[in-house]
Amino acid sequence: MEDSQPSTSDHQPSTINHQPVLALRPGVVYTGSGTARIGLPAGDYTIYASRGFEYSVRTQQLTLPPGRSYPLPMRIRREVPTPGMVACDTHVHTFTYSHHGDATIEERMLTLAGEGIELPIATDHDILTDYSEPARRMRVQDYFTPVIGDEVTTEAGHFNIFPVQPGSRVPDHRITDWPKLMEELRATPGVRVVVLNHPRNIHNNFQPFAEKNFNPVTGENRRGFEFSFDAIEVANSSALQSDLMLTFHDWLALLNYGYRVTAVGSSDCHDVSRYIVGQGRSYVLCDDSHPGKINIEEACQSFLKGRVLVSLGLLVQMSVDDKFGVGDLATGLGELTRVTVTVLGPSWARADRVELYANGVRIRDQHIDVAAGPVEKTRITWMIPRPAYDTHLVAIASGPAVAGPYWPIAKPYQPSSRVWEPRVLGATNPIWVDGDGDGRFTPPRAYAKEIVKRVGVDPKKLVAELAKYDESVAAQAASLCQATGRDVRSAEVEEALKTALQHVKRGFAAYANTQQK
Ligand SMILES: [Zn+2]
Ligand SMILES: [Zn+2]
Repeated sequence: MEDSQPSTSDHQPSTINHQPVLALRPGVVYTGSGTARIGLPAGDYTIYASRGFEYSVRTQQLTLPPGRSYPLPMRIRREVPTPGMVACDTHVHTFTYSHHGDATIEERMLTLAGEGIELPIATDHDILTDYSEPARRMRVQDYFTPVIGDEVTTEAGHFNIFPVQPGSRVPDHRITDWPKLMEELRATPGVRVVVLNHPRNIHNNFQPFAEKNFNPVTGENRRGFEFSFDAIEVANSSALQSDLMLTFHDWLALLNYGYRVTAVGSSDCHDVSRYIVGQGRSYVLCDDSHPGKINIEEACQSFLKGRVLVSLGLLVQMSVDDKFGVGDLATGLGELTRVTVTVLGPSWARADRVELYANGVRIRDQHIDVAAGPVEKTRITWMIPRPAYDTHLVAIASGPAVAGPYWPIAKPYQPSSRVWEPRVLGATNPIWVDGDGDGRFTPPRAYAKEIVKRVGVDPKKLVAELAKYDESVAAQAASLCQATGRDVRSAEVEEALKTALQHVKRGFAAYANTQQK
């Protein structure tokens, strides 16, 4: 709505047990029942009815004379089919328990139901919040299954953990040594999933994936120890990066190093409407027939197995040979593999690009001029020669930001550039392609290690051997070379690279760029 601040009418009960049944902010009303009675000054209005990503938007122009009341039916419908997938927001706050933002716990119940989140993880800072009782009190308990989590908020990064058994001691957030902290997180009763939050954001002067902490090309932890979180936020809709792809590349590098880390989408929302809860979200493979009774253990297993789709306005599905899906090892393959990518979204979102990454290297980039349909934006099939080595495949679709005022994507609050081009996007987790046919997945770093073990770090021999692999294996080999004390920027290496194939040159150059000059 435009111009004015709506208020509840006094003609109908505006509370249940003294709690408001609406969550109201200037221009925005959330209702837990599907109806709302609001008072507005006389004037011209545009009213939008919506219910988040999976639903249509209804638009109504209205001239409101003084002193009249109008019933205004605005029917919306379910548009995006998500059978067998649970809409999860792994990162949700309340003002009541986090003490910033503005959504009280009662208002949070209405906003979660109003955005169609079926599995909200309560992650207030260093406190356990249980939505069960407030959800019943607000009469929205059939719309979602609450999960108790915790945003463990340390001076060396923020981690979401879930589920946590009610009544447990919260982990000690004063621990800043990551290996010790991980032990503390895993020792918390019930915890199955540990997520590294907003890896590129700076809090307390600490950026988890700062240059000195993390190598964004190889996925190496520059602080020495091995990473051991299960998942990482690649799309946090309250803390987006100026370069929306930055966190995706970080994650793909982790996979190349050999970490099994699941990409998740979340909202990190503290507010009723300044940011939208569930705007960034994760679709988790899990029985969703009763949103109020979701099997939390089943959902957690899918998080750990990477059976998750990341959504920020689009939803992307992928299959290999019509039988392997996201999270699967695709094995027993022929010479050509059939990769099918389907992009879904509500009628109010648009996709104009689909990219396919193999070991983090973009191998297909298709522009979409005309959508195939209002909901299924496109379905693309690529026939891809099976490589002789293993690759992880990830599809990412994107499109222009939604024009209507009902789904604004917030600007980065820690921008790295003055340029900001908001986009809707959707991404898969990997399908693990068993290219070498040994029945398991071997990451690029493991290939590089095997090659270095076999031929040593003689630049000529190494470069020749890397010809059979891709850029990601070359980058990992460059890092192993450097670790043995052979500078990848030395004259000898440069000489050997002169006759190397392009992908080997690119891999070495990408790695060399991450070394101090
Ligand atoms: Zn945080
Ligand atoms: Zn947070």
